[in-house]
Amino acid sequence: MRNNQATQLLFELSKSGRRGAVYPACDVPSPPVESLIPARFLAQTPSALPEITEPDVIRHFVNLSTKNMSVDTHFYPLGSCTMKYNPKRHERLASLHGIVDVHPYQPAEDIQGMLELLYTMQQMLGEISGLPGVSLQPAAGAQGELAALLVASAYFRDKGENRTRVLFPNSAHGTNPASAAIAGFDCVQLKSTSAGFVDLDELRAHLDDKTAVFMVTNPNTLGLFEKEMATIAKLVHDVGALVYIDGANMNAIAGITRPGDFGGDMQHYNVHKTFTGPHGAGGPGSGPIAVRDFLAPYLPGPIVTQQPRHGSLDKAWTYHLTMPERSVGRVRSFFGNLGIIVRGYCYLRTLGAEGVKAMSEHAVLNANYLLAKLKDVLPVPQGDRCMHEFVASAKIHKERGISAMDIAKRLLDYGFHAPTVYFPLVVPEAMMIEPTETESKETLDAFADALRAILKEDAEFLHLAPHTTPVSRPDDVAAARNPVLKWRPHPAE
Ligand SMILES: *Cc1c(COP(=O)(O)O)cnc(C)c1O
Repeated sequence: MRNNQATQLLFELSKSGRRGAVYPACDVPSPPVESLIPARFLAQTPSALPEITEPDVIRHFVNLSTKNMSVDTHFYPLGSCTMKYNPKRHERLASLHGIVDVHPYQPAEDIQGMLELLYTMQQMLGEISGLPGVSLQPAAGAQGELAALLVASAYFRDKGENRTRVLFPNSAHGTNPASAAIAGFDCVQLKSTSAGFVDLDELRAHLDDKTAVFMVTNPNTLGLFEKEMATIAKLVHDVGALVYIDGANMNAIAGITRPGDFGGDMQHYNVHKTFTGPHGAGGPGSGPIAVRDFLAPYLPGPIVTQQPRHGSLDKAWTYHLTMPERSVGRVRSFFGNLGIIVRGYCYLRTLGAEGVKAMSEHAVLNANYLLAKLKDVLPVPQGDRCMHEFVASAKIHKERGISAMDIAKRLLDYGFHAPTVYFPLVVPEAMMIEPTETESKETLDAFADALRAILKEDAEFLHLAPHTTPVSRPDDVAAARNPVLKWRPHPAE
């Protein structure tokens, strides 16, 4: 590891007595802390916090921020994650007084505007999915999966059916089996066809009266639309089970086709992916779920309902927080991750129905353009066409000692964030590329040129990439096995 632009830690910049803020003398009685907090809870020595001026703190963090890549600074084709541009207007709207200064314990009468916004968001998400029952509660896609599986579980319990298994194809995102296991189901992984689709024979062989849910991502994680989706849904429904659509890939189909129309009974959205919530670095997310009418009574709540207002001419409706009749309960405090829901709402209202469709069409066009520009040097085993992303394989380069990881790391030197690598697991040396709809032809061309240039470089040189970033290639195995999570003074200090 190399550190050519050494950044000192705040602790190392610390000088005893330096201050960033000076507080006025306290003008209320200040009894000794020992009289307020039991002695056993008091530290014997003050914490070793850094002492530093405000400009030094600002420089420190601004400089650190420029050492990383972001959607605002670089092309970021991280497949599956939909790292789309986050319009700055949403930030301003999401920080309006009426949104940030609302207290979640305010009575519903006082926050009618907020509730109307949430209700409208529920309606829009219901319309885009074709699944009318919507809960905005889940805080991310994975939690949406879990919440929907709990809904399925409650539904079958009410019907007196003992269904214990959740099936999913081997191209599924890792959160699918994880959610199923946490919801108490047994997980059954199904082989896909060599073309990357759900294998109908494999599915038939595993469906029975113990099957609760078949989870499927559509378009799937190879960026392919499941052509046999109607048959898949029929097979699942014929044994009395439910179809769960992992909606992480809605960026390919929103406004064009709907999970509810192609057989889905439940789905989650990733508002932070499809509808521009800024994400990465672990959050924040928003993973609303949408379900068919007969599952709506089980949704996590509260959800927002609308009632006609009597005797008033200025507003026709009132909005209420309601717990669905047979609700599985809360999965998140208050209204879910409100800040992200509001940004998604702004996005949908800005685009409108035609705009949402155009968004998906442009995402698919951009991905197909890149696929066509790259497939001669980075073959795409599952086809010549894709939806909003595609999975190339670096296997032919592995034979000369160049791995998908080497290529991904070297891209950083060229000023591009790396694509997702080694997922989905069904493609060897996978590179999953998702350009999103807002990238220009020039950016896509530059990215393709960079990849072509890298593939002509020397294998040894690539193993040591990146060469120009503040940190080169960390030992990720050591970092996972032996994490250093705490600053310790240098032995010499
Ligand atoms: C991102 C993703 C998820 C999980 O969503 P989070 O919001 O990250 O929890 C599930 N499935 C697929 C295909 C995804 O890309």
